[in-house]
Amino acid sequence: MLITPHLQARAERSWTGSIALSEFTRLQSEFQQPEKAKVDVSLDFFMDDERRIRMKGGIKVDGDLVCQRCLNSLKTTLEIEIDVCILYTSVRKRIDTGDLDVIECEKGPIHIVNLIEDDLLLGIPWKACTTDAECLEDTKNISEFQSESKVGITRPFKDLGKLLLKGK
Ligand SMILES: [Zn+2]
Repeated sequence: MLITPHLQARAERSWTGSIALSEFTRLQSEFQQPEKAKVDVSLDFFMDDERRIRMKGGIKVDGDLVCQRCLNSLKTTLEIEIDVCILYTSVRKRIDTGDLDVIECEKGPIHIVNLIEDDLLLGIPWKACTTDAECLEDTKNISEFQSESKVGITRPFKDLGKLLLKGK
């Protein structure tokens, strides 16, 4: 599952495949039984008009998503679109990426998991339950204070992790 982005893009090759969710180390806690969840990936690589390396396509995740609000898990299918520009950290030349999302990585082969894990993390809703009724039904036993503090504590750390990764 190693690919070399610029070679892949120059050849306009696609990458499709299925990856076990357990391979995404930062996504483990988001799913109940991550070893049973799977991630279907379909990505096109190409050089755009501005000679940037682009990766575009979609990811579909099937699994038991843990609701970070009530901590129940819910069978969920997530479809996440990806449209990013890949930049090599070693390339000094300034590349104007405009409004594009950017993934920075070392030049050379990279595991497909590392290319899509950030987008997956950002695409996962923290509240898996689709209605408040579902969610609140099971939080009756948890005091208001506990559920509030859980919300306050869990999310900022999560987002901080994402921010740090983005700024890397
Ligand atoms: Zn819930």
